[in-house]
Amino acid sequence: MTAPSHRVVVVGGGFGGLWATRALASAPVSMLLIDRENHHLFQPLLYQVATAGLSSPDIAAPLRHILRRQKNVEVRLASVTRVEPAARRVWLDDGNAVDYDTLLLASGATHTYFGHDEWAPFAPGLKTLDDALVLRRRLLLAFERAEAETDSARRDAWLSFAIVGGGPTGVELAGTLAEIARHTLKREFRHIDPASAKVRLLEAGPRILASFPESLSEKARAQLQRLGVDVVTGAPVDAIDADGYRLGGVFVPARTVVWAAGVAASPIAQSLGVTLDRSGRVPVLPDLTVQGHPEIFVAGDLATITQDGKLVPGIAPAAKQMGNHVAQTIRARLAGRDSTPFRYRDYGNLATIGRMAAVVDLHGFRLSGLLAWWFWLAAHVFFLIGFRNRIVVLLNWFMAYWSYQRAARIIVGHSKAQREPDAG
Ligand SMILES: Cc1cc2nc3c(=O)[nH]c(=O)nc-3n(C[C@H](O)[C@H](O)[C@H](O)COP(=O)(O)OP(=O)(O)OC[C@H]3O[C@@H](n4cnc5c(N)ncnc54)[C@H](O)[C@@H]3O)c2cc1C
Repeated sequence: MTAPSHRVVVVGGGFGGLWATRALASAPVSMLLIDRENHHLFQPLLYQVATAGLSSPDIAAPLRHILRRQKNVEVRLASVTRVEPAARRVWLDDGNAVDYDTLLLASGATHTYFGHDEWAPFAPGLKTLDDALVLRRRLLLAFERAEAETDSARRDAWLSFAIVGGGPTGVELAGTLAEIARHTLKREFRHIDPASAKVRLLEAGPRILASFPESLSEKARAQLQRLGVDVVTGAPVDAIDADGYRLGGVFVPARTVVWAAGVAASPIAQSLGVTLDRSGRVPVLPDLTVQGHPEIFVAGDLATITQDGKLVPGIAPAAKQMGNHVAQTIRARLAGRDSTPFRYRDYGNLATIGRMAAVVDLHGFRLSGLLAWWFWLAAHVFFLIGFRNRIVVLLNWFMAYWSYQRAARIIVGHSKAQREPDAG
């Protein structure tokens, strides 16, 4: 049997790319899915790996395994460096090029330091599994360093943690870190009291969780404060170095700063030759194609599109819906049918704050506290890819719920970290 001649290349096996690929399973196309990682990652639980609650394989699955039964797709581990729209070709980091008839760009976004890339070594962000492992090591090592420190000012700096950015990721990290300090590490150290650690959440805007209704932002703030987090709003950080950060002109010693702010789209969009938005995202037409290039689709965090006067948010459900829509459009075109414009369906907004604390906004139906936390937990387990992952995550959470223990507290790469000047 000869392979179908229409060649679809998908860049990125995240929510947008993978959902499109799977939705084209029985379509008469031959597909190539290219990703620079070998796995699909469930980013909403990445903070759990960074805070030692889960291990990497619990929230990621190899793309080859996910797609093993889908005969019309090949997977390639490579990084796409640029697109050459005129030649209908993408270039890879190994110097090879791949031709396409239809291209889907779904390479996502990462964080940005708002023009202060020099802060990056001192305030790592959280986007990939590698980032999560670096963060986990830094957070756990900070307590170890504090235990060994004899100078009280230096010890306090090791026990001072700051998270920059009061969006869902910042809130999750701050709440969980406070829980680790107050409960998980209790009675394990002899020279420090981990519960004395200061966890600060720094948000430049007037309130945390700005995408939620104001009443839920307030509830989240109160829940964080109950967990022992100091929430500071309306104060942008103006400097970060190895010793701490400066806020409103005042330097605060803190050896562990985490970056959870800013969005910058994947840089390959620059090679498309279209005007990008301020975050580097590609403005797409209603069918999710690029102006002047009906054969190039963009989905997920890399795309920007307005619906009913509001931007479609950069969240997993939007990326999945875009991926599915791209697949439907490709099928319609191949069958000679008209395609319909993309319509985002907003099912609501969830964020967890820590053990038994979360906020949920389902179009006016609002929950906070324990009930919201159960809802958040069920939704995240349900959406994880793979039966094994669901079971492992559930078991881990069950154990953590009763014992406050976190399963993945083993520090690895420690000696290498000691050689790195930025490793803290
Ligand atoms: C820490 C964190 C927590 C989040 N929490 C939530 C949440 O609770 N709920 C929610 O709905 N959303 C959440 N999000 C947002 C959500 O994860 C994203 O909106 C979603 O992943 C976007 O899907 P995507 O397919 O556009 O990009 P991604 O899922 O980021 O996938 C992009 C893929 O492209 C690959 N890639 C990138 N560049 C290249 C290249 N040059 N060549 C080849 N491959 C490349 C990457 O390896 C990746 O696999 C969170 C994001 C983060 C970072």
